Amino acid sequence: MTGKHAAPKARSRRSAALRRTVLTTTALTGLSATLVAASPGWADSDRAVAGHAAAPARGLVPQYLEPGRGDADERAFLQRNRLLERVSGKINGKLDVPAKIRMTGRSCGNSDIAYDPEKGRIDVCYEFVAEVRDMFRDAGYGKVGERTAGVVSETLYHESAHALIDKLRLPFTGHEEDAADQFAAYHLVPQGRKGQRSLLAAAQNYDLYARQEAGRVDFSDEHSPSAARAANYRSYLYGAAPKRWAALVDGKHLTRARSAYSREEYADLRTGWSHLLRPHLRRR
Ligand SMILES: [Zn+2]
Repeated sequence: MTGKHAAPKARSRRSAALRRTVLTTTALTGLSATLVAASPGWADSDRAVAGHAAAPARGLVPQYLEPGRGDADERAFLQRNRLLERVSGKINGKLDVPAKIRMTGRSCGNSDIAYDPEKGRIDVCYEFVAEVRDMFRDAGYGKVGERTAGVVSETLYHESAHALIDKLRLPFTGHEEDAADQFAAYHLVPQGRKGQRSLLAAAQNYDLYARQEAGRVDFSDEHSPSAARAANYRSYLYGAAPKRWAALVDGKHLTRARSAYSREEYADLRTGWSHLLRPHLRRR
C-alpha cells in the first residue's frame, strides 16, 4: 500500500463494492426497522452513559451526536451497551496516545464505521447498527442484540487500529486491513468468552456479507474477501483455545488444513501487535 500518509482517505471495515450494495439495501429496507434489544445480562451492570465525566484531552474520545430521523434507537443501543466507552476505555487504559481521536456516533446517510485520517476521527454511523442487526435477524440468528453489539465492538477495534497506525506511525509490513482485523482479535480474544463471542459474531456477520458478494468478489479491493476474513477470525479463535472452539473446524468455514496453523497464527498475531505497541504502553 503506497501513499498511506501522503493521500489519506477514509478507511472502513468493508469493501468498496459492498458499501455500494449496502446503500441500495438500506434504501430499500428504509429506516423503520424496530430495535432488537440486547439480550438481558449482556450489558454491564454499570449502565452509566458516558459524557458526564470530563472527556480526556487525548486518546480515543467517545461522543454521540444527535441522531437523524429514524436513528434514535440505534444511538440508544450503542449508549445502553456502552460500546464506544468500552473500546476506547480499553485502548486508552493500555496505550499512551499523543493525540485526540474522536470516536463519534452519528447519522451518516450510509451504513459504515470508518476512520478519517484527515479529520483524525472515527465515524460510527448509527445506520451501521441497524444494518448489522437486520442482517442477523433476517438470516434467522438468535441473540441478535448480543451479536450486533459484538460486531460493533470488533469494528470499533478495527477502526481504532487504523487510527493508531496513523497517529502512532506504527511500522508494519503492509496490508493494513488484515492488520486491523488482527488488532481486533488481539483485544477481543483475551477478554474471555464475551470477547470471543464478539469475534465469532463478526465472523458470522462476514459470512452474511460473503453471501451478498457471491460471484462478484473484487479481489483487488484493499480488504480481503469477507469469507476469508471470517475464516481468519475463526482460525484465531481456534488457535487461542482449540478445545473450546473445536466445533469451528467444520471443514467449510474453517478447514482442518488451515486449523493446523491456527495456534501459530494466533501466537504470531500476539507477538507482532505486542511488539508494535510496546513503545506506546502506558507506564504504570
Ligand atoms: Zn479497515
